[in-house]
Order: sequence, then C-alpha cells, then structure tokens
Amino acid sequence: MVKFRSLSRLNCMGIVKLIIIVLLVWTGFLLLKKFRKPTDRIDQKTSINKMLACSVCKVHIPKNEAIIQNNKVYCSKEHLE
Ligand SMILES: [Zn+2]
Repeated sequence: MVKFRSLSRLNCMGIVKLIIIVLLVWTGFLLLKKFRKPTDRIDQKTSINKMLACSVCKVHIPKNEAIIQNNKVYCSKEHLE
C-alpha cells in the first residue's frame, strides 16, 4: 500500500509515458528478433553446404545452388518446368 501511495503522487501522464516507452522498447526488441532470423538462416545455408539430388536428372548439386519448389529439388530452371 505504501508503494501505491507513492505512485499516486506521480503525474498520471508520467505513468502513461512510461507504459508507452516500455511498449516501444518491447516492440523494438520483437522486431530485432524478427530481423535476426533471416540472417541466421543465410548463415546456416552457407555453412552447411549440403548436396541435393535433382528430381529430374538425379545430378547432385550444392543446396545453395539448387532450386527448391514444392519440396522438390531442381538443378536448373529448365528442369523446374
Ligand atoms: Zn536436373
């Protein structure tokens, strides 16, 4: 109850500002997390150069050079069609 009394002394706008700042920091943190995910994926792709077989000609190609569509692997745009 002592804490509540000291809070009531504060300007009401001050509390609102504090909440807005907390929300802004929180959303900023969430955005940072979102932006970090794609870069992590790119790092994984380059570090793990897995070989994949083309579903048309069975030629093995590095994952970063392969065309993946509908869970199928293609070595080139020609085989994609
Ligand atoms: Zn192919």
